[in-house]
Amino acid sequence: MKPPRRLHIKSYGCQMNVYDAQRMVDTLAGEGFVETANADDADLVILNTCHIREKASEKVYSELGRLRVMKDEAARQGRQMSIAVAGCVAQAEGSEIIARAPVVDVVVGPQSYHHLPELLARAERDGRALEIEFPVRDKFEFLPPPKPETIRARGISSFVTVQEGCDKFCTFCVVPYTRGAEVSRPVTKIVDDVRRLADHGVREITLIGQNVNAYHGEGPDGRIWPLGTLLRRLADIPGIARLRYSTSHPRDVDETLIEAHRDLARLMPFVHLPVQSGSDRVLAAMNRRHTVDDYRRAIDRFRAVRQDIAFSSDFIVGFPGETEEDFRATLALVTQIGYAGAYSFKYSPRPGTPAADLQETVSAQEMDERLERLQELIDSQQSAFNKAMIGSTVEVLFERAARNPGQIVGRTAYLQPAHVMASEEIIGQVLPVRIQSLERYSLLGELTALPQSRPAPTVFSTPSEMTTGA
Ligand code: SAM
Ligand code: SF4
Repeated sequence: MKPPRRLHIKSYGCQMNVYDAQRMVDTLAGEGFVETANADDADLVILNTCHIREKASEKVYSELGRLRVMKDEAARQGRQMSIAVAGCVAQAEGSEIIARAPVVDVVVGPQSYHHLPELLARAERDGRALEIEFPVRDKFEFLPPPKPETIRARGISSFVTVQEGCDKFCTFCVVPYTRGAEVSRPVTKIVDDVRRLADHGVREITLIGQNVNAYHGEGPDGRIWPLGTLLRRLADIPGIARLRYSTSHPRDVDETLIEAHRDLARLMPFVHLPVQSGSDRVLAAMNRRHTVDDYRRAIDRFRAVRQDIAFSSDFIVGFPGETEEDFRATLALVTQIGYAGAYSFKYSPRPGTPAADLQETVSAQEMDERLERLQELIDSQQSAFNKAMIGSTVEVLFERAARNPGQIVGRTAYLQPAHVMASEEIIGQVLPVRIQSLERYSLLGELTALPQSRPAPTVFSTPSEMTTGA
């Protein structure tokens, strides 16, 4: 028997890359690869890259510089180290990577991971291998499922891709070019994946997609199912205590999704709904195809059915043409909505996108200053949201032993880390916790109910039975 080969994957960027990295590990497990946490003793290193902003893609080339030193050292020791670049930089800059970085053996785009074994063999034979096509057949048909022991080792929370690609073409964004057109997976495949995960201890599923609420997959009845109907189906799977989904677009908030939040206790009341800007002028230039008012109305519809719902968002500051007045409109929207948290970014022109041809009007200094003002406001809202938890009793899904001995950490419905003193048998259970204090972003509390002797999820029957400080 051949000894196992060691595989190290470094992922950058979004949740979908985290998920893709796991699927690459599952694919290569069939080729005798086992994962290692260290790059220097690996036989294969994969950089799973992100192209969303310039900073993210630059990291790839500096990392490749470091890997070249490791590869040379491995060769001196008589070992062969192969290097692959995967993800959105691979898709966008395929042959340029090959030209700029001779250290790279394989370049593989996000739709071709199932071909990794063949590509490695081709690189062995021909020196290099590149594949950045958008294949006609869906890669999910070919990706092997994870083994039971792998699922258990990955913990109680798992991502499942339900939708990929994007047809929205926001003028600043590379996703439609790197991930391709919007595609939804069929319902039965997703149900099978979630069942398998639940059978091996997973308690929380986050459905992911670049535009997850544009989901329109084929249902078992032959009809097209929207996300809300899919969530309803998944909520019936035994063992699944919590459902989440990310990332949503304000234009695709339909009634099935709102009704799912009204009816499903297992669907967490925390929605990531990016708006990008609070100015209609900027939203139009970004081709977001919604106004600030449309966004407010979408938020109100969620709030009308679930009072304890909280929101997070993404913002871009310094988009070409953004004036101080436009930026103040963003601050006003943040103040009006009140977020539990949000991500904010400086605009970064991406080659090949329509906005890259626009004249940049906001100086680097102004951008820094706007980002700081926005982040200050978001941080103050996040702190207030977290502080409001103190004194309330919230449900926590426990995930793992914390760093401090005797402590177990889990997450609230709003993804806040919560720590209690307890034994490890509570891992995988949803238990009520009285929150006593807040340390930076972490809540500290005590269990108010005894854990069950065997891990099993508990969920309250209706959303209104939860008490939160939200
Ligand atoms: N599909 C999601 C949506 O429409 O909201 C977002 C997907 S994108 C991977 C994540 C975030 O990156 C975006 O919401 C946006 O705030 C940010 N982003 C994308 N392109 C950017 C750019 N060129 N410059 C700065 N931030 C960008
Ligand atoms: Fe990018 Fe816009 Fe599509 Fe989101 S909706 S992935 S920001 S193009």
